[in-house]
Amino acid sequence: MSKKRIALLGATGSIGTQALEVVQAYPERFDIQVLTAATNAELLVQQARTFRPRVVVIADESKYLGVKNALRDIPVTVLAGEAALEEVVRDGAIDLVISALVGSAGLRPTVAAIRAGKDIALANKETLVVAGQLVMELVQKHGVNLLPVDSEHSAIFQCMVGEAGATVDKIYLTASGGPFRGKNREYLTSVSCEQALRHPNWVMGAKITIDSATLMNKGLEVIEAKWLFGLQARQIDVVVHPQSIVHSLVQFADGSIKAQLGLPDMKLPIQYALTYPDRVENNFKRFNFVDFPELTFERPDTVAFRNLALAYQAMEAGGNMPCILNAANEVVVAAFLKGNVGFLQMSDIIEETMQRAVHMAAATLDDYMETDRKSREIAVELVTKAKNLYHIAK
Ligand code: NAD
Ligand code: MG
Repeated sequence: MSKKRIALLGATGSIGTQALEVVQAYPERFDIQVLTAATNAELLVQQARTFRPRVVVIADESKYLGVKNALRDIPVTVLAGEAALEEVVRDGAIDLVISALVGSAGLRPTVAAIRAGKDIALANKETLVVAGQLVMELVQKHGVNLLPVDSEHSAIFQCMVGEAGATVDKIYLTASGGPFRGKNREYLTSVSCEQALRHPNWVMGAKITIDSATLMNKGLEVIEAKWLFGLQARQIDVVVHPQSIVHSLVQFADGSIKAQLGLPDMKLPIQYALTYPDRVENNFKRFNFVDFPELTFERPDTVAFRNLALAYQAMEAGGNMPCILNAANEVVVAAFLKGNVGFLQMSDIIEETMQRAVHMAAATLDDYMETDRKSREIAVELVTKAKNLYHIAK
């Protein structure tokens, strides 16, 4: 078996480091060719020493010399800057690109990789939220595999294996509900970012952890699922399942439902995306029914957690509206992490950005980049206003 040659974008993150654990467990299957990071030079250097890629990219150009110096004794090309991400994924010696960066920064390198005919293991859901139609058209055109890493989408994907030709009635995406499940708006007014960062079931990067607390993560995943599986909005339901054992479900035309279950561990969906269509043995902890006498399900509360409703609205509006939603969300999450806006203000600012930004029914890659930039400007302005009010109120 020839080794799968991999470029890992976002190597130093939560998904990136877990992907490297999976790679390390199967040295006969995988070969790391490229590693990239935004700012964490120290970890990137350490990873380069362990995995011996041909190329590393540090997006933060001010860290270039540090990385270059630290790796001068090993044969590795060091590049810097975000533009380099688009270059390195095109290399002829790469079979698969793991897109594990966070935010809309993932769009351009992922598109470049698809255009170069590379298979994609996609963790960066923002790519499909921002430009799902364009990305899926490119996937078709270039005949690449787009393999979901997100646990819910991996679950749906696994349920679909062997069902070619079957009609899907609908899918159910499960949501843990996050740390504030069951809380009302009054409670949410004053929650802190430390509280929001304490996710009950998963340890993840800061941005997705906040998105899980606001239910925006599920909103983004609804849009991600629409594009990955070619579904209409009415075919995608969200159900809150606090134990995070049932990772998602598919209901077929005959009413039969298939689900995928397992302990919450991202290494499993990562491994499946890397080894697909094979299932490969591992030593991950096994699920035991006795530890979970109850698996429960409830309706999401979109009054307290408005982001999920806003995401459905953006999806229905179509065109560049999900891109606007995503850009505004990235801005407010960063502001919330700095303590500059309150939990509930995040939804207000996203909604107002959606009203103020220019809606386009159809968009090119450049349009999406421009929409992303302009929506961020609007959201930043709204954050600045909100920040003053928020600090007065505190
Ligand atoms: P993270 O913040 O832990 O890591 C992000 C990685 O991307 C880091 O390596 C960082 O250096 C790099 N990066 C960030 N901004 C960049 C930029 N502008 N340019 C270049 N590189 C940049 O994030 P994460 O939790 O690993 O999430 C990564 C993606 O996977 C997100 O889209 C997230 O929604 C998705 N995802 C994550 C999980 C999880 O368990 N962490 C689960 C499902 C989906
Ligand atoms: Mg998920």
